[in-house]
Amino acid sequence: MKDHLIKATANGVRMYAAVTTKLVNEGIRRHQCNPVAAAALGRTMTGALLMAANLKNKECITVKFNGDGPLGNVVADASPDGYVRGYVDHPYVDLPLNNGKIAVGEGIGAGIVSVTRFTGLRDTVTGTCRIATGEIAEDLTRYLYVSEQTPSSIGLGVLVGKDLKAIAAGGFFIQPMPGLADEVLTKLEKNLAELRPVSEMIGEGLDGRGIITEALKGFDVNYFETIDLIFKCQCSKQRIEGILMSLNEKELESLVEDGHAEVCCHFCGEKYQFNKDELVALINVSKELKKRKNK
Ligand code: ZN
Repeated sequence: MKDHLIKATANGVRMYAAVTTKLVNEGIRRHQCNPVAAAALGRTMTGALLMAANLKNKECITVKFNGDGPLGNVVADASPDGYVRGYVDHPYVDLPLNNGKIAVGEGIGAGIVSVTRFTGLRDTVTGTCRIATGEIAEDLTRYLYVSEQTPSSIGLGVLVGKDLKAIAAGGFFIQPMPGLADEVLTKLEKNLAELRPVSEMIGEGLDGRGIITEALKGFDVNYFETIDLIFKCQCSKQRIEGILMSLNEKELESLVEDGHAEVCCHFCGEKYQFNKDELVALINVSKELKKRKNK
């Protein structure tokens, strides 16, 4: 099954569901995550995709968990057209299971979750909220309520196998629209209380539509667009050159002396190699630019 996100509405309720198993595995592979980091990164990337699905086309968001747990920062960038990238500061951290479950909350610790919306214009909007449990889904639900005054419910799940790969990953986002009748809200709450874990549903082969059908049992559901989801970073050798050129001359010259530089993209783990000739060329361009600036 391809990774995807599907949108639906039903009796005054908006719902998105996503299957993200492949892109979570791409994140695990790129950052060589142990299970705690795999689950934290997978849930954060899936949550970011679900929250980004609400945005306009050129907008994107960054979700950042800045906790005091051993994982360090857990960060994901997502756009409404289905692209996501993310990283964990310390992907090798290993923690014992907590009541048979991956100890994501312990890995994240206490701190702040922040969500930054890039509008494509100059201004960015950042909202923050205290991390409640570090289990990601609860924190994002709480963030939307506290910081954006949007009552909603987010469910996220990543099932990690013995081979350290994700067997099933995905999530959903449900939002009652303003003015929803009390009896509909009660029915929705009952459905959600009875809903199986999302990773279990995906593990059984359910797609996004299947998850929505189960969550909105008894509702009159209208399905809208389906978006393909993929792990994709915006880095390129050219962008990394720009970062190298922002170093001072001494730092660049010491790289030339080494005869080689390897720069790793923090977001996707991609490694870029620069040989001596390329580094010398960068120094020359950097000197030339400085000369022009000083004129
Ligand atoms: Zn990258």
